[in-house]
Amino acid sequence: MDTIVELCKRRGIIFQSSEIYGGLRGAWDYGPLGVALKDNVRAQWKKDMFQLRDDVVPIEASILMHPRVWEASGHVAGFTDPLVDCRNCNTRHREDQLPTNKSGEPYCPNCGQAGQFTESRAFNLMFRTFVGPTEDSSAQVWLRPETAQGMFVDYAHVQLTSRKKVPFGIGQIGRSFRNEITPRNFIFRVREFEQMEMEFFCKPGTDEEWHRYWIRQRYDWYTRLGITPENLRIRPHATDELSHYSKGTVDVEYRFPMGWGELEGIANRGTFDLTQHAEFSGKDLSYYDQAADERYIPNVIEPAAGVDRTALAFLVDAYAEEEAPSVKGGTETRTVLRFHPDIAPVKVAVLPLSKKDTLTPTAKKVNDLLKPHFVNVDYDEAGQIGRRYRRQDEVGTPFCVTVDFETVEDDDAVTVRDRDTMAQERIPIENLVRYLTDRFTAARS
Ligand code: ATP
Repeated sequence: MDTIVELCKRRGIIFQSSEIYGGLRGAWDYGPLGVALKDNVRAQWKKDMFQLRDDVVPIEASILMHPRVWEASGHVAGFTDPLVDCRNCNTRHREDQLPTNKSGEPYCPNCGQAGQFTESRAFNLMFRTFVGPTEDSSAQVWLRPETAQGMFVDYAHVQLTSRKKVPFGIGQIGRSFRNEITPRNFIFRVREFEQMEMEFFCKPGTDEEWHRYWIRQRYDWYTRLGITPENLRIRPHATDELSHYSKGTVDVEYRFPMGWGELEGIANRGTFDLTQHAEFSGKDLSYYDQAADERYIPNVIEPAAGVDRTALAFLVDAYAEEEAPSVKGGTETRTVLRFHPDIAPVKVAVLPLSKKDTLTPTAKKVNDLLKPHFVNVDYDEAGQIGRRYRRQDEVGTPFCVTVDFETVEDDDAVTVRDRDTMAQERIPIENLVRYLTDRFTAARS
């Protein structure tokens, strides 16, 4: 993990928030390449959820919601983690995440003392704030700890106005906040993060089938985008692990450097949420099924993923070091992020062989030609060409396009270098957009 953190910092992908002030724990900033990486994760999720389907629609709910929402959802009473203090070194920990020694006793991960903890206390993870000028309980609201509740409280309105019939889903991507006791493992556990959640409303009795369907869909999404299947697993929750609302949950887990960790939870929430909101709001949230002439509260299947954790899994999975021919002769270690082309932050880099005036106009022309077609094209003319290839490899750019003297003086063609094989091909400029588009399409099949 340290290698990934260091690479992310060095290349401005992800780094500590407010670093010049010493940083803030559990908060990270995404630089230009990190933004591009996250955009790609979001875009691929949206493509799968909305673009390729007719039965899921998007919303964007507000982060601040009516405080009753969190009473109905159970978060005010129950969204807690067990907090303990180490009496020896005064550090705070989540009781359920303490490591254990050979005799099974929890010990402090900071000072190593076993059995020196205070009684555990339930600590609510929701951040609290106030709306308007008075800071009393009537003005108190919460920063949402999940995006899911937006879909439940907007369910009836969206169902009606989008004229969707059950089964159908509502999804959104947005920020969530949790006052995690021990944020750690880089962007795996942070206090402010982004979720991609979808609530799929279906007829009671069909829920288990839909649950299996969404588990398959979501697993395939990760592997299709390049995650190594051996590093991905589906783990069903044990009965004592299930949330209060859940009829059954599986986690999609990734083998991170620190061990298996949840990327996404896929839960069968039954009728819990709509029933609760109907009761707390006094509004009828049942569905009239015209075809069957019956009325019911739909069951809900929820695939809930994290943008940041997914980005981290893509980074970890893509990372490789290998021996490659050195720019100085002999071999050297090449660091390469083998991102799927749809996930790679930079899609194509345009590299004039040298900074000579004779090459610049044509190289700029090639750059302008590509920009409308690929979301992130990088133009880099400074330094030795071999080093520039290495810089692009290190951030996972799938294709480098080199403009050389032959391009200008002779053939109006460029060299396209493949990141993974390092093979180079000569492509006429007039065919370049088509050629690269075909390569991206081929990577999707
Ligand atoms: P964990 O058990 O790891 O705390 P969770 O089961 O509470 O996670 P969910 O409530 O199911 O997580 O949230 C759905 C997804 O949101 C998670 O799978 C994860 O990808 C993301 N997520 C949740 N909490 C965090 C966090 N503190 N930092 C980053 N991502 C998070």
